[in-house]
Amino acid sequence: MNLPRAKKRLGQNFLVDESYARRIVEGLGPRAGETVVEIGPGRGALTALLLGRGARVVAVELDRELVPVLLERFGGHDDFRLIEADALEVDFCEAISPAASARVVANLPYNISTAILQRLVEQRACVPESVLMLQREVVERITAPPGSAERGYLTVLVAAFCESEALFDVPPGAFRPVPKVWSTVARLRARGAEPEGFDERLFQRLVSAGFAQKRKTILNNLRHAPEDLRALFEKAGGAAALLEATVIDPQRRAEALTQEEWARLTKTLTAGGR
Ligand code: SAM
Repeated sequence: MNLPRAKKRLGQNFLVDESYARRIVEGLGPRAGETVVEIGPGRGALTALLLGRGARVVAVELDRELVPVLLERFGGHDDFRLIEADALEVDFCEAISPAASARVVANLPYNISTAILQRLVEQRACVPESVLMLQREVVERITAPPGSAERGYLTVLVAAFCESEALFDVPPGAFRPVPKVWSTVARLRARGAEPEGFDERLFQRLVSAGFAQKRKTILNNLRHAPEDLRALFEKAGGAAALLEATVIDPQRRAEALTQEEWARLTKTLTAGGR
């Protein structure tokens, strides 16, 4: 069968160096019978190895032209299920049924890697662990410590709910077409449940507002937060009073705040500034 041309808009850089495909699957270490979600199976470089290890693969692929390619290769396999959909719209809890939880593996399309990470964090109850190939800078960003200029909304969000670990780097030459950048394979593992009463949505919105303009102080950014968030600040006496009650210097930048300080800020706001 003729393979369709790689599509740039779908982030199609296919892994052609099998040694890296093996290392990714070994990094996951699937058990026979375990359900594994694969985002963007492409031409099946990882899929074949997952099935070879006895995993039950639920593959989510957006490119319709790749469907016949995948079905020809794996359609006869009892453990292969293909969902033709946008992974950003898939409810993973539903997709993995009858399993209650599953691990994820993916050589992610770079253009949607941030959005996918957010979704995996949101749905971590069903997908508690992932082994993902990401752009090297994205892995540097999600593992950046407080005070680092690389720190951003994604760093704080991922670190709040998951432990992340860089496993190994992959050079551009391992893919076709050859990308411009290096990749890193990383493991994300969900932490335990949040403390009772922790408002996850509020936390996300606060962090997002805090990082709105990275060069500005935390106070300045909170003062320019979306209106409904500002209304909450007003109930707590205003953004400056909220920071004071949380014992956070208003002149610091968002990148300097620790995970614990972001969590404390959320709790103070939930408690109305007290
Ligand atoms: N897993 C294959 C490999 O390692 O060779 C392909 C990886 S390629 C970097 C990314 C894959 O994700 C492509 O097959 C692409 O069509 C698919 N893709 C892109 N956007 C997607 C989306 N929103 N939902 C599901 N799959 C997507």
